[in-house]
Amino acid sequence: MLTGETRLVGIIGDPVSHSLSPRMQNAAFAARGLDWTYVPLPVEADSLETAVAGLVALGFAGANVTIPHKTAVVAYCDEVDAVAQRAGSVNTLVIRDGRVLGSSTDGLAVTEAIECRGERVLLLGAGGAAQAVATALADAGASSLTVSSRTPERAHALVARLKTLLAEREIEVADAWPPAGVDATVVVNATPIRDSPLVAVKPEQQVVDLAYRPDGGETALVEAARNAGCRAVVDGLEVLVRQGAASFERWTGVQAPVDVMRAALSE
Ligand code: NAP
Repeated sequence: MLTGETRLVGIIGDPVSHSLSPRMQNAAFAARGLDWTYVPLPVEADSLETAVAGLVALGFAGANVTIPHKTAVVAYCDEVDAVAQRAGSVNTLVIRDGRVLGSSTDGLAVTEAIECRGERVLLLGAGGAAQAVATALADAGASSLTVSSRTPERAHALVARLKTLLAEREIEVADAWPPAGVDATVVVNATPIRDSPLVAVKPEQQVVDLAYRPDGGETALVEAARNAGCRAVVDGLEVLVRQGAASFERWTGVQAPVDVMRAALSE
């Protein structure tokens, strides 16, 4: 039931029709008895600045930001927290007193789900989520990062950025897309690709897939990782719950009902 008091949050991206965040966040608001609602908001790249101003004008309490706006939206925040600044990527907007505060919960959602210290990471993709995850993994102690992207210039730009932040670390661009023969102990897919595993995975690897299927079915990478008996397999739904719980807490100041959020995704 929406009322005149209902607080609004949403997700801006293109596309957003596949997103399970509305289902997950609305279940969380209901479980905590909050008169809040979460709506999908499709926004094309040309309209991003107007859309952020619109959220403020319409009295939204905040929003999530998804593909392809995570890096571009930084320019439209009044303030960006230290993690998001380091990542160069924002997935959570909190709007207070007409000011837009940007933060990033994607990186922690990954680093809290796997072992990071001393790991050698292969990162597939070089967009906003990849930036956030790469920074967080390096800050959590990963010893090397190899970035592979369909668009090599984007991988080079991410690697250049990471090298300025992490002078002592081994960071390089893979020489092919999709990459082959990269000696990694962690594989992270930060592209929307769900139908191909992109790489051959091995049992000693930890595998994280940010992509997920709206019907909850396994992506090709997760299926390959489970079949290979990989050391850890973290699917996109688990990452969604973890990053969404952190966003929920930033908006509401209330502890997120993580089990409710996880259950909402399997309904
Ligand atoms: P983004 O900034 O637009 O970056 C997308 C990345 O994927 C770019 O490197 C892009 O390469 C690559 N890519 C897109 N389509 C591709 C294709 N067909 N073949 C090869 N590479 C392709 O988007 P993002 O915000 O980083 O998000 C990336 C994905 O992660 C999205 O699917 C998003 O939903 C997912 N994600 C999920 C969670 C979660 O909670 N589960 C959290 C964050 C992100 P080009 O530069 O060549 O286009």
